[in-house]
Amino acid sequence: MKPPICCICDKRLDYSDEGGLIYFEKRSSDKKWDKRMEKKGMVGHPPYAEWFCKEHYEKANELKDLAIHEAMKQLKS
Ligand SMILES: [Zn+2]
Repeated sequence: MKPPICCICDKRLDYSDEGGLIYFEKRSSDKKWDKRMEKKGMVGHPPYAEWFCKEHYEKANELKDLAIHEAMKQLKS
């Protein structure tokens, strides 16, 4: 897992109530990543998951049905 730092504003999440990790809709490449990691018995930071601080968590959570690159485009605009 990546350290808990908001991917929008680079704010460090020091407490668990300050936002959290959001898993977005998996793209086909993300499903492949899951399979690859499972095969190797490895745990890593999923390419379809990102950390969000309290300020950005709510909006990101509304967009989690989108693939991560689509959601990020909207969140950063
Ligand atoms: Zn943020």
